[in-house]
Amino acid sequence: MSANRQILFASRPSGQVTEANFKLVESPIPTPGDGEFVVRNHWLSLDPYMRGRMDEAKSYAKPAEVGQVMVGGAVGEVIASKHPQFKQGDFVNGAFGWQEYARSDGSGVRKVDPARTPLSYYLGVLGMPGVTAWMGLLDIAQPKAGETVMVSAASGAVGSVVGQLAKIKGCRAVGIAGGKAKCEYVMKDLGFDACVNHKAGKLREDLEAAAPKGVDVYFENVGGEVLDAVLRVMNPFSRIALCGLISQYNAVEPYGLKNARSFLVNRIRLQGFIVTDRMELWPRALEELARWIAEGKIKYRESVAHGLENAPKAFIGMLRGENLGKQVVKLV
Ligand code: NDP
Repeated sequence: MSANRQILFASRPSGQVTEANFKLVESPIPTPGDGEFVVRNHWLSLDPYMRGRMDEAKSYAKPAEVGQVMVGGAVGEVIASKHPQFKQGDFVNGAFGWQEYARSDGSGVRKVDPARTPLSYYLGVLGMPGVTAWMGLLDIAQPKAGETVMVSAASGAVGSVVGQLAKIKGCRAVGIAGGKAKCEYVMKDLGFDACVNHKAGKLREDLEAAAPKGVDVYFENVGGEVLDAVLRVMNPFSRIALCGLISQYNAVEPYGLKNARSFLVNRIRLQGFIVTDRMELWPRALEELARWIAEGKIKYRESVAHGLENAPKAFIGMLRGENLGKQVVKLV
């Protein structure tokens, strides 16, 4: 390969993201300066947070800059280095962006071992989404054995791990997912006790049937109508770990909750969190996740798009729920 193909963030979307918000360009493959290395990206991660970065609104992170390489995590191999801690042949995970080659000074980069697990897992279950599930459930919501844990976007990168962690902790795990096939996967392959299809048109009844004793812990990934319906089945003194609100990321008009009264009458404790809030917990989370994968207690699946040029389409598809499991792009 003689050029570095890159996807630039071309324009801010209003409402739905379209392929016109991105632009594929070519530039020379970078060379490292002193204290830098160059990585060839093998896998690119596509994550819902990227939609937030495309907006200018104030958030927990700075907006992406129009005209720059689209932001994103990737894993790849160091192909040239003038950095004392990274050598040619090392495999690394970092915010390398939507491009085939990236130059880095090593900030925020961790070395990964391709012999231990497939390389792409470091973008999912053994990376940011896996730690998100661990942190929101085990550090923030702290379910006890016998409690009912409900999670939305249950077949996705974060949600699939949340339900399996709930099972490991002896809880009843109930998923919410978009479609019959996703619900079947969540129950048959991942071992959840029940799953509600939020597209079936009778959310309230289905939630009640899936959680006959009510919900003690709700891990929220979606927001909007789904959150509103779940508020009706929350138990007294229950907890909500607010991880994401994906149904609202493309929305022009935010959804207004109708069942907010449940917070008061049920004395619900809700806490929003960002996975980078407590970096000191990452090593323990990653170690436990790796152990449970090795023991067969956590199963994991990916939706794979092929080639950098297909990243925008796959990203738009993920925001619409077309992925099953973690959405990644294979570059090499
Ligand atoms: P997923 O792999 O779960 O993919 C996104 C899923 O969201 C889709 O497959 C779809 O599932 C669901 N979805 C999309 N639109 C809607 C909608 N309108 N109503 C209901 N469901 C919808 O993504 P991740 O696991 O990577 O992320 C899940 C959530 O976690 C996101 O909200 C994300 O922003 C958040 N997150 C937060 C972090 C933090 O630090 N707080 C870190 C990482 C992720 P379905 O078809 O089942 O509806």
